[in-house]
Amino acid sequence: MAGRPGGGFARRSGPGGPVGSSPPGRAGGGFGRGGRPPQRRARRRRRNLEELEPTQLTAYVPSNAPVPDGEVIVERGSTARDLGPKLNRSAGDVIRFLLLQGEMVTATQSLSDDMIELFAAELGADVRLVDPGEEAEAELLARYFEEDEEEEEEDLRPRPPVITVMGHVDHGKTLLLDRIRQTDVVAGEAGGITQHIGAYQVNWNGHLLTFIDTPGHEAFTAMRARGAQVTDMVVLVVAADDGVMPQTLEAIDHARAAEVPIVVAVNKIDRADADPARVLQQIADRGLVPEAWGGDTITVEVSALQGTGIDDLLEHLILLAEVEEYRATPEGRARGTVLEANLETGRGPVATVIVQRGTLRVGDAVVAGSAWGKVKALIDDRGDQVKEALPSMPVLLLGLSEPPQAGDELRAAGDLTTARTLGEARAQRFRLSGHLPAPSATGARLEDLFEQIQRGETATLNIVLKADVQGSLEAVTESLRKLERDDVKLSFVRRGVGGISENDITLAKASTATIIGFNVRPDRRARELAEVSDVEIRTYEVIYKLLEDIEAAMLGMLAPTYEEVVTGDAEVRQVFRIPRVGPVAGCYVQNGAIRRGAKVRFLREGVIIWRGTITSLKRHKDDVREVQAGFECGIGLSDFQDLKEGDVIETFEEREIPRA
Ligand code: GDP
Repeated sequence: MAGRPGGGFARRSGPGGPVGSSPPGRAGGGFGRGGRPPQRRARRRRRNLEELEPTQLTAYVPSNAPVPDGEVIVERGSTARDLGPKLNRSAGDVIRFLLLQGEMVTATQSLSDDMIELFAAELGADVRLVDPGEEAEAELLARYFEEDEEEEEEDLRPRPPVITVMGHVDHGKTLLLDRIRQTDVVAGEAGGITQHIGAYQVNWNGHLLTFIDTPGHEAFTAMRARGAQVTDMVVLVVAADDGVMPQTLEAIDHARAAEVPIVVAVNKIDRADADPARVLQQIADRGLVPEAWGGDTITVEVSALQGTGIDDLLEHLILLAEVEEYRATPEGRARGTVLEANLETGRGPVATVIVQRGTLRVGDAVVAGSAWGKVKALIDDRGDQVKEALPSMPVLLLGLSEPPQAGDELRAAGDLTTARTLGEARAQRFRLSGHLPAPSATGARLEDLFEQIQRGETATLNIVLKADVQGSLEAVTESLRKLERDDVKLSFVRRGVGGISENDITLAKASTATIIGFNVRPDRRARELAEVSDVEIRTYEVIYKLLEDIEAAMLGMLAPTYEEVVTGDAEVRQVFRIPRVGPVAGCYVQNGAIRRGAKVRFLREGVIIWRGTITSLKRHKDDVREVQAGFECGIGLSDFQDLKEGDVIETFEEREIPRA
């Protein structure tokens, strides 16, 4: 986590404080957040008078005077004059107490955390220290949401368990998630039309189960790093032919840290070289002793490929959920967590949220991080619009002012003004606390990194990171952070969702940063600017490749890279659906040439939405091999359905760049 801005926060005036607090203005004026301009002058003059009046400071309150009940929120860096009244004492009381502890402070000097806590402890008061700017937010939360905190025992109802599938790469997480989804009777009847919103719910024999369908522990950790706990149970997938691998161990650690039960799915038992007994031994060695051996870890043998053992697995998950008694009240205003969020053309900011208590309804005013708004629509995992979402139900939410961050808490706020006030208070705090650390002036680019390390210097790799969705942005950041060593630090100059823009290049140039794109691409102008500015752009579609490269660069072993040479791009003007042929995109070739059989990517606002090859290419009615810039053409696509007007089809070739 980024540290707070260094060196005492030259006091900012408190937000129009609680009743009984001292006037907030002070020398230096500065911010005056809750400032009321017309009164300002008068206030300042009065305060100056107060300062001249020694009696004000030495007016002591009897030491047995009561202190406020409950938690008192105090901003870090408060002065004696701020702190005293909050605890029903005078500034003089604070100063005298600290003097007795050997600390000389004036009434308008910032106090350290220790001093504040010491004084509170002396009085027996309960204080919570918050960052500057957080106070307004904490007060708002307390004011508007306090009554939501109480959960009446009799309102609690069983809710579906929320399950995350984890395990080593290629052990079958994705296939298992697909198989589980297919067990849903209702989805099956509807022709299996599903929408990937980051999570889905299955109804299996009348029991609901919620699965987070971005498998892998990166997302899981990223969530937890932000204080969000969404998952109730973890299904640990271990391939029977491969056994426990490094990421299996990592997954076990993560699940343990989150204190959630682990169910082990021993997968790929269809394979001839499968050795399930060895897997059981290996997990038992890690403290997960199988039930069959007298332990309490549920293990189930499955084949995601053949679909065997899936029912058995689901049955065990339901039994476990019954034992664990997951409950929540469907009453009251909703509270939930954002799983992922991004900007979508035509829909604006969309966020997948899992409701954790209460009921989320269309029309509710909501706030998540600094995003706020009225719920315009809720879309479930089948792509259907729904009116409300109950606990444990994942939905795509439309109507927020901006995409929130994965892991942000979502709350229904009662009315839009509250949602907005809270959202804006947070935005203000994010700005004040300067979310992004300053880029290192001596930052190295990826190619130069090793040289710098070899010179014995501490190298800092400056990175501009862009990703397709908030979830992957968090996951990539989190994974990159783990690569940091004593001699190599990472500094994120910018992190953001969306395509790589000219702005990103300019920033990278100014801060000697390398641009890393995950599932996103630079547009042509950005690419050209990068070339002339000598800014390196590295794009990836697989997280392990990305991490491998960065790690290799740290070891001075950056492998030869394949440069993707963009050979042409075309803009989609119209999409035709032709019976028996499928969709054909009517396009206009903008640059280069489009060739049949070329590798393509579809870009929507710079974000990769599909990749594959061109199956047919037509000019008017004729099949052609190539269409040059400036001409229209029809591009036939094998299996991609969701192409829209304005999307860009980019063709490319891969060429190896020899390393110097
Ligand atoms: P992930 O990286 O954990 O998500 O793994 P995937 O679900 O992508 O699976 C990796 C590979 O293993 C794919 O080629 C799958 O077809 C294959 N696979 C997954 N489950 C099974 C299984 O039960 N049996 C066999 N033989 N192959 C499987």
